[in-house]
Amino acid sequence: MPAGKCGCTKYETRVHVIYVGGTIGMIRNESGVLTTVPKMLEKKLRDIPSCHDQTVANKTDEKCLLALPAVSGAPYRVLYDLVEFDPLLESSCMGFSDWQRMAHEVGKKYNSYDGFVILHGTDTLAYSASMLAFMLENLNKPVVVTGAQLPIFEARSDGRDNFLGALLVAGNYNIPEVLVFFGNKLFRGCRTTKLNSDSFHAIDSPNLPPLGRVGVNIEINSRQIFRPCNVKPFSLHCALEKNVALLRIYPGITASVMQAFLKEPIKGVVLQTYGAGNFPVGREDLMDALREAIHRCVIIVNISQCSAGMVTNTSETGNELLKLGVIPGYDLTQEAAFAKLAYVLSKPEWDVPNKKKVMLLSLRGELTTNKVAKINDIDLIEGVARTLHMSTAVEKQQMCSTFYPALVASAVTEGDTHKLSDLKQYGANLCDTNCDGRSALHLACFLGKMNCVCFLVSSGCPVNVHDRFNRTPLHEAIDTDNHEIIKVLLKNGATLNDQPLVQAELLRALTERGKVKRMESFRLAGADLTLADRTGRTALHYACQLGNHEVVDYLLPHYENPYVKDELGMAPIDYAKAANHAHIITLLRFRENELAEQDPCACLN
Ligand code: ASP
Repeated sequence: MPAGKCGCTKYETRVHVIYVGGTIGMIRNESGVLTTVPKMLEKKLRDIPSCHDQTVANKTDEKCLLALPAVSGAPYRVLYDLVEFDPLLESSCMGFSDWQRMAHEVGKKYNSYDGFVILHGTDTLAYSASMLAFMLENLNKPVVVTGAQLPIFEARSDGRDNFLGALLVAGNYNIPEVLVFFGNKLFRGCRTTKLNSDSFHAIDSPNLPPLGRVGVNIEINSRQIFRPCNVKPFSLHCALEKNVALLRIYPGITASVMQAFLKEPIKGVVLQTYGAGNFPVGREDLMDALREAIHRCVIIVNISQCSAGMVTNTSETGNELLKLGVIPGYDLTQEAAFAKLAYVLSKPEWDVPNKKKVMLLSLRGELTTNKVAKINDIDLIEGVARTLHMSTAVEKQQMCSTFYPALVASAVTEGDTHKLSDLKQYGANLCDTNCDGRSALHLACFLGKMNCVCFLVSSGCPVNVHDRFNRTPLHEAIDTDNHEIIKVLLKNGATLNDQPLVQAELLRALTERGKVKRMESFRLAGADLTLADRTGRTALHYACQLGNHEVVDYLLPHYENPYVKDELGMAPIDYAKAANHAHIITLLRFRENELAEQDPCACLN
C-alpha cells in the first residue's frame, strides 16, 4: 500500500482529501454563525498539530503535502493533500451532477493515491456514499466519506475525530469499499442513513453492524468487508438515470398522487411501504396505478419505512406486490435503493428483465437477501478453540491470526483454490499479511501459481501491497520471470513502485550480470530501460563498456535515442570505442542506420 519512506520508521501512504462542503470545514463568522470560507480549510489544518506535522512533511519528497502525526496502532504514516469544491456545497442542495463531480475527482486521482476521504455535509451524506458505491466500479481502495455536527476547528468537535479517523482508515486499511466514518464507527457507505440531527452519532447503519470501530484501538472486522468477485480494473460509471423517485405510502394516499409519481418520464420508483413490506393491496385504484406503471417497464422496488428490518416475501401483502412485478428491496436503505435504481437503470447493456434481476442481487453489499449461511458452532476455528480450551473472543481472534495465514500459505503452495475458497468461507482473510508484511499474493506470485493469483486478486486482495522490504507481488513475478503473472497483475492495477534511480541501479546490476530475460520481465512490469543513474549513464552505456553484445542487442530496439550522453558527455558508442568492442560498434552503427532511415535528421556524432 505505501509508496515510500518519509525518513521515519513508518512507511507512508497518500490520501487525497476532497472537501465538498458541510459543517466539518466551516468556521464561525463575527456573528457566531457557521459558514464555509473557500480555501480556508487547508490553511487552518496546517496549524492544528493533531492534523499536521510539518517536521514529518519536510522529510518527504513532496513538502507541500500535509502529514498526519504518528498514531499508535496505525501501521502507516498518512500524507495527504486537499482539494475543495468551488463553490463549497450545502449538501441539501446536491444532486446528480455533484455525485458525478465527486466520482470524477476520485477517478482522476485513482492511481496516484492509496485512499480517498470525502468531507461532506451530513444531510445527504448517505445518498452520496450510496451513489458513489455504485459509480466507482471495481473499487480496490478505500473511499471514506465523513462529515460532522461541529467543525474541526471548534473546541468541542466531532469534526476532528471524524476527519482523523477517516484519514487513518483511508491510509491504513485496504478496504475496497466506499465507507462512511462517523461517530468513531466505520460503516459500509451504501448501508448508511442519517438518523439523528443533533447527536455526534448522526449517521448509522441500521441493518449492518459497523465494519470497524475506532476507540483506544482501531478494530476492523475484516470478515465483514465486501470484496469483489471478479478480476476487472477500476472504472467510473457516471451516467446515472435521473428519472427515479421515492414514494412513501401513507394512510389515505390517493391514486392520483401515486400516478403523479409513476407517470412518464419516471423509470424507477422506490416504494416505501409499511413494516415488512406491507401495502394497501385491497385498494384496487392503487394496485392499478402500480400495474399500469410496471406495464410501462417502470421498475418499482419495495423497501420498508422502518429504519431497521427488511421487506420479506412472507407477508401476504408483500406477496401480492411481488406477483404484480414489484421487486423486494430486502433491507436496502432508502438512499441505497434510490442510488441503485439510478445506477442500474442507466446501464445500457442490460434490458429491463435483467435490470430487475440485478436489483435483487447484492452488488456492493448493499442488501441482505436471505440469511447468510452462518458458519455453525462446530466450524474449524471453534473445533480448535474447544480443543485448546479457549473461551474468550480475544483468544480466538489471536488464534485466527496465527492459524489462518499458515493455512492460506499452505493452500497457495499446493495451488489449491478450493482450499482457499473454503478458508475464506471459514473467515480467513486472504489479504492478511504475515509479520514481514508478505501476503498470500506475494507467495502465489513467487511460486508462479497462476490459479491462486487469479483467485486472490478476484477475491479483492490488494495487488500493490508492500512487504517490509518494500516488495510487492509484482517484484515476485519479475524475479521469477513469470510474464503471464506480470500481465495479470498489471491488468489488475499493479504498478512498479521503485523510484527511477532505484530502477536505473537495478538495470545496471542486471546489465553487469547479462540478465536479459530479467530485463524483459522488468520492462514488461513497466520499467523504462532507458533510465539513467546518478552519473547519467544508462544500461546501454554499461553494456557497451562491458562489451556485452547480447544485452546491447536486447536494449537497442528500446532506445529511441541511443546517442544519449552521460554526465561526462559520453554516449554508449564512446564507451564501446574506448573499450574496443568492435562487434558492439557494429551493432550501434546498424541501429544508427535503422534510425537514420526512419528519421534522416537523427545521426550519431
Ligand atoms: N446541513 C449542512 C449540509 O448537510 C451542514 C452539515 O450537515 O454538515 O451540508
